[in-house]
Amino acid sequence: MIEHTFAPVEVAEGILRVTYPMPMKPGHVHGYLVATDEGYLLVDTGLGLGDAPWGSAGIERIAITHFHPDHVGATADAVEATGAPVLQGAIDHYQCEKVWGSDAWVPELAAWFARQGVPPEETAELLEVGSVYRQFVHFVPEARLLREGDEVAGWSVVEFPGHADGHICLLKDGVLIAGDHLLPRITPAVGLYPDSRPDPLGDFMASLERVAELAPRLALPGHGDPIDDPAGRAREIVLHHHERLAETESGLRDGPRSGYELSCTLFPGDLGAAQRRFAVAETLSHLERLVVEGRAVRGGDDGYVTYTQP
Ligand SMILES: [Zn+2]
Repeated sequence: MIEHTFAPVEVAEGILRVTYPMPMKPGHVHGYLVATDEGYLLVDTGLGLGDAPWGSAGIERIAITHFHPDHVGATADAVEATGAPVLQGAIDHYQCEKVWGSDAWVPELAAWFARQGVPPEETAELLEVGSVYRQFVHFVPEARLLREGDEVAGWSVVEFPGHADGHICLLKDGVLIAGDHLLPRITPAVGLYPDSRPDPLGDFMASLERVAELAPRLALPGHGDPIDDPAGRAREIVLHHHERLAETESGLRDGPRSGYELSCTLFPGDLGAAQRRFAVAETLSHLERLVVEGRAVRGGDDGYVTYTQP
């Protein structure tokens, strides 16, 4: 059981973990304070719930692994409290502005979900749930943009697209600050969204293979306990998605299906709007992977997308 505590816990030499509360599942999210020559580098800020005690922590830089609300949400609050500059992946910052910085995103998402077969009343509900987060996301427009191979206080920036297109991790001396790229018990969500990279699941599996190759000795995730066999965990998650791909493929046996219809087969039951939204996006990332592999065909007309077996 992980407590919600701002009291930092040392999880590796020179690395403190802070745990932020989260009103929705999984109930907490971690940030990390990394000791550097000049002070602390804070990685991820939690949701912007307005109660983050950054002032006295000695933070001199803030890095963001990805733009999801529970990681980027309190960034502006942390900047206000510390005066520290923000570093964010270049692709991630673009998507962050697109999703959280403009009102155009919500109608775009609505139209897109409708094209994926989501019934109108459910589309409205999905969007409503999504917009609950907006008030807790305080990102900053001026960030130093990071790319693969950049260095931050001796840590290498590694781009691991998949869970988010622009997800970055930091790697040094066999320690990976992993964000949501690698999680211990749950598998990171991998969804297709409008304007996302075309094959997020393919990206994710390649990024996991890369973790296996880099073979860090420890991964510090955004949720859950430290992972002491990151390569093994990465391979486990790849395997899981191979199984999910096979299930998704057999879901197309009886003719064309929309992403929404198939999500109801793969993730049955009344999930509630928030979980259904993830289920549809997750199903679509698997369908698009099957298309890339020649195991499914995307079709449909009148702007209504369906998938069939080839
Ligand atoms: Zn995330």
